[in-house]
Amino acid sequence: MIIMKSDATDAQVAAVVREVEKYGLRADVSRGDFRTVIGLVGDERRIPFDHFAILPGVKEARMVETPYKLISREYAKAAGEPQRRVIKVRGCEIGGDEPVFIAGPCAVESKKQLFTIAEGVKQAGAHMLRGGIFKPRSSVHSFQGLGAGGEDDAREALDWLREAGSRYEMPVVTEVRGEAQMDIIAEYVDIIQIGARNMYDQDLLISAARKKKPILYKRHFGAGIEEFLSFAEYMVAEENKDIILCERGVLPLGKGKSYTRYTLDVAAVPVIQKETYLPVIIDPSHAAGRRDLIFNLSCAGIAAGASGLIVEVHHNPVEALVDSQQQITPDELKDLITACRSIHKALGPRKNGG
Ligand code: PEP
Ligand code: MN
Repeated sequence: MIIMKSDATDAQVAAVVREVEKYGLRADVSRGDFRTVIGLVGDERRIPFDHFAILPGVKEARMVETPYKLISREYAKAAGEPQRRVIKVRGCEIGGDEPVFIAGPCAVESKKQLFTIAEGVKQAGAHMLRGGIFKPRSSVHSFQGLGAGGEDDAREALDWLREAGSRYEMPVVTEVRGEAQMDIIAEYVDIIQIGARNMYDQDLLISAARKKKPILYKRHFGAGIEEFLSFAEYMVAEENKDIILCERGVLPLGKGKSYTRYTLDVAAVPVIQKETYLPVIIDPSHAAGRRDLIFNLSCAGIAAGASGLIVEVHHNPVEALVDSQQQITPDELKDLITACRSIHKALGPRKNGG
């Protein structure tokens, strides 16, 4: 990390960037209110920091020890940037003062189903609509999402999502399962979701980041927090800092019945907030895998300081084609949102580790 003096000129910043590139690294220029900080993308051990420290306009040049530098609080602090990033999407804020609620069916099944659910979640108080069109499934024999029918089917379903979002005034989110779907999905949605199974797919992360849209990025169920943040860094290194991190449960421990689909790692919320300025939300649905626990896990997530929730909702959960055991009804969502809002209010503004 190279911290420029507050009166450093653009020419001096440009000269440092050129010097960084000479050593085979890329520069991430972060212009804060008080000064400019240059983050190094690549192997920092190749950089002679003593040499950089005496270049014109440079205040300080030092190594950042964490494997995720550009998303670290240390980096934001050095640039005098806010310690938490507020991501704005069509009038909604993620990471702002109020928790954000993202809701919708696991899979878009039909236009009617989507519009019924969109209306229900809007009335329940949700801010954003999520519906899966390309579903990651463990079995090839199960419903893969309408996108599996080919490009025309995918566009039709994406159109519904867009239309439902406009009708009920909610930004829309859907998952991109592979690079082949990136262009078409980015054409329609406000936020691109990268699912847990793809957390490690760095090529997918890079191409999603290059779409310059916010990304809802889920932690893999076997990934440590450091690993999760290190992979998030791939997107920020593409100059896209609008990354919403999502904790959705890790693999349960021990033998015998585990009772939940995954184990919600509630501590990940405050830990991530201490490490980075990116907002973190909770997915209680995939963590629990059963609808009777969604309310409790949602409350726990908000109490832990999460910036919001992503919850699977279906007007008729038992009939849902995917994840029928864990989807809740719009009425249940309404109760959950009311409870989460009171918890948030009761706990007051959190410093979020800052
Ligand atoms: C989903 O959001 O529908 C999903 C499949 O979640 P995850 O990637 O967390 O398993
Ligand atoms: Mn699901």
